[in-house]
Amino acid sequence: MKKNLFLSMTLAAAFMVSCGEKKITESTEATTQATEATTETAEGAKEVVNEFTVESNDQMQYSVKELTAEVNKPITITLKHTGKMAKEVMGHNLVVLKKGTDVAAFGNKAATAKETDYIPVDAPEVLAFTKLIGGGEETSVTFTITEPGEYDYICSFPGHVALMKGKLIVK
Ligand code: ZN
Repeated sequence: MKKNLFLSMTLAAAFMVSCGEKKITESTEATTQATEATTETAEGAKEVVNEFTVESNDQMQYSVKELTAEVNKPITITLKHTGKMAKEVMGHNLVVLKKGTDVAAFGNKAATAKETDYIPVDAPEVLAFTKLIGGGEETSVTFTITEPGEYDYICSFPGHVALMKGKLIVK
């Protein structure tokens, strides 16, 4: 019995790996615009790049926990899921929240919004979000922030906010 379970899990894992090769690449229309924002440097200051890639994995981790972007220019965040687990059990997204949002409270609220991939229908706290992805997938979102400051970003899949959060610093 146990052996059978193990076998079917192995098969399931193998199946997911082969599915994972069919990478779902989705990028938004503003990708080309965003590249314009990456080149300017102000008198030798640290270059501000508004295009980011954040990886996520089966261990519920983001690879990057701090992003610095330039205000009033399109920001593109590409989210990759480098794991193998399906989105139903290890789904990840990246949700950028308005300044001052209670991250834990929003996480609780989002956890109940399963039908809409954990983005509540009524969510004024949300500035931008990617779709929910599973292992092997990637997606991206482009948005513009008009006010400098620190913005939290999280994965709103139930239970993930405790580990999957970072700061988007807009200057
Ligand atoms: Zn997640």
